[in-house]
Amino acid sequence: MSQKETAKWIEEEVREFVSSSGENSLQSGRPEPAFAEPLIGIARGDDPLFQDFKDHVGSFHWTPAEAFGLAFPGEEIRGEDLSVISWVLPQTRETREDNRQQVRYPAERWARARIYGEQFNVALREQLVRTLSNQGYQALAPMLLSQWQRRDSEKYGFASTWSERHVAFAAGLGTFGLCAGLITPVGKAMRLGSVIVRLRLEPSPRPYEDHRQYCLFYSQGTCGKCMDRCPVGAITRQGKDKNKCVQHLRPGTSEYVKANFGFDGYGCGLCQTKVPCESKIPVKEDVSL
Ligand code: SF4
Ligand code: SF4
Repeated sequence: MSQKETAKWIEEEVREFVSSSGENSLQSGRPEPAFAEPLIGIARGDDPLFQDFKDHVGSFHWTPAEAFGLAFPGEEIRGEDLSVISWVLPQTRETREDNRQQVRYPAERWARARIYGEQFNVALREQLVRTLSNQGYQALAPMLLSQWQRRDSEKYGFASTWSERHVAFAAGLGTFGLCAGLITPVGKAMRLGSVIVRLRLEPSPRPYEDHRQYCLFYSQGTCGKCMDRCPVGAITRQGKDKNKCVQHLRPGTSEYVKANFGFDGYGCGLCQTKVPCESKIPVKEDVSL
């Protein structure tokens, strides 16, 4: 298969799993998927952006070759022989609509997508690694490595050794918003995942020149709707205060989810819904929303 055909095959494998797996479920007792149709992007393993992330996020952030080396110790590898497959799992219309009505705590569907949807995202990572391995390609999901860790970043506060948002940015899937979420062609109400494979694939185009290009606050000096949506004032003109956000998530929303929906979970996503970038790349006319 050519690089293009292989990339197409991988994309189809991801799509098929999302559309047919029973694990793509909100586990609400009704047959409701956690996520809608995915978007897929590919980055080269030796993309210079991965080196840049060490400066921006922290030196602890892995390059694809470093992550590969942890999964396959002792193997000789060059970044150019690796590709990173990144995906966007969009929240469903129903989940977005429910969360739009909320002013302090998450809607039940949103909280379910955060917990059970992310369980499916883990299953998707495992499934893609299995599928690629069965075809003879060495593959790994960095988020599932035992060495993956949350870390403190000087510039970003809470960070980790593999940021799905930064990887998706490298794979052409979106740019960062004022709220620190990634704005993709299907908006920022979504979750992200990725897998590294020892295979050269044609990278996806990055249809942007600036890492904040899709956010109206940075590109037009307007909007800022996510600031109004945050119930705890964690988003200001300076960006997102991750500490404030996390303090609201736990214990605030976790107590609410347990008391109201009866499962151990948490979530918020108010800044991801009822905003112009909820489900698309916003345009300046959207600020009257
Ligand atoms: S709501 Fe507006 S300011 Fe906030 S991330 Fe989206 S486009 Fe940017
Ligand atoms: S997730 Fe919730 S608490 Fe965190 S920044 Fe967004 S709106 Fe604020």
